[in-house]
Amino acid sequence: MVLLDRSTLMVVFAVMTLTMLVLFYFDTYRQSRAPFAGWWCGAVASFFLAATFYFMGEVQAVTWAPSVGNGVMVLGSGCVWAGTRSLAGRRIRPWLLGVPATAAVAIDAGVRYSDHARIGSIVLLALMGAAIGLASAELWRERVDSWRLVRSLAVATAVCAGYYLSRMVGLALLGPEDPLFQMLFGTGVTLLMAMILLVVVSSSITSLNYARRTEDLQELAYRDGLTGLLNRGEFTHQAQRRLRANLAAGVDTVVVMADLDRFKAINDRFGHDAGDGVIRAFAVACRSAVRDADLVGRYGGEEFALLLDGVDAEEGVRIADQINASLAEHSSLPAGVDAPTASFGVVDTRERNAGLQRLLREADRALYNAKAEGRNRAVIGFTAAGTQAS
Ligand code: GH3
Ligand code: MG
Ligand code: MG
Repeated sequence: MVLLDRSTLMVVFAVMTLTMLVLFYFDTYRQSRAPFAGWWCGAVASFFLAATFYFMGEVQAVTWAPSVGNGVMVLGSGCVWAGTRSLAGRRIRPWLLGVPATAAVAIDAGVRYSDHARIGSIVLLALMGAAIGLASAELWRERVDSWRLVRSLAVATAVCAGYYLSRMVGLALLGPEDPLFQMLFGTGVTLLMAMILLVVVSSSITSLNYARRTEDLQELAYRDGLTGLLNRGEFTHQAQRRLRANLAAGVDTVVVMADLDRFKAINDRFGHDAGDGVIRAFAVACRSAVRDADLVGRYGGEEFALLLDGVDAEEGVRIADQINASLAEHSSLPAGVDAPTASFGVVDTRERNAGLQRLLREADRALYNAKAEGRNRAVIGFTAAGTQAS
């Protein structure tokens, strides 16, 4: 580091930030348009601009440039903070970015060519340390997803905030010419810190972006678009696993097949959109009647499948009745019209060792009986007590 002079280091820093900005913009931001990636672009662009201003001050002796550079550095740090808030959907007021940046410019411009020149740098470091420290605090609060990545970002930003704040204390106590200050906090070390932060944050945000996109794609692949319930393939997959686990643990399982009654007539009379509304209301009714761990899937157009743990068929019938009651409450059909209903076929695994396909088949048979008996009811299947596995 000592072999490189300040202006060379600044050029290296500027070239690096610009390269990073171009790579990050095209590779990560353009693909996702995620707010946190946008804020990070803003931060890297600010650091590039700041490096340019510092270079202008250092090499071309433009007197106002370093003060503006300080303001842009503060702005960039504010963007880092705003980006971490946007991860959890929290916003930031624009003045929280603009006021500190303007203050950094004004204070530095006021003192730069006086005996108190270091005050400008102390303000710069305090504001940067505060913004990046707040970013780290936001990241520690974030527990939603990809927590390993978020944790490593939190550590990187905490180290960086700590460094800036220590540099501020060192500058205030020792002064810029002190050898100890030069060794710990000289321009070279500071720029090296900034470069490490840039690389760590950029690569972490790229990975985070990738992780979130993968999660979004998984959601699309596993969930039904209209209701948000599991789609048929995912319901079957999860139900098979659950059934096996319950069997091994000796826990009874209930499988329910449901079908909306005279649904074609609802579509014909009120239109397809109203029909969709009833399907959504049925999904809400199902989810509110079962526990979080129970599985609910949209099995076909207006057919649904449920898997309930630790209950028997009689309890399954009670839950089905509850779903019908809740469907009547949440129906979006015009007032005065008969509330929509559904029929249910219910089977349980008590004293049986049946596989999922067999249970679904028997539940479907019971559902058919429920329809034949007049609809708007739940019928328990397996009455012929079939006990062989499918
Ligand atoms: P039943 O009581 O015997 O079940 O009578 P039904 O009219 O409900 O039975 P049927 O299976 O004949 O009709 C189902 C209708 O559901 C036909 C289809 O147009 C409609 N449907 C399937 N998927 C959707 C959907 O996503 N939205 C809407 N609005 N209608 C759907
Ligand atoms: Mg139907
Ligand atoms: Mg049907």
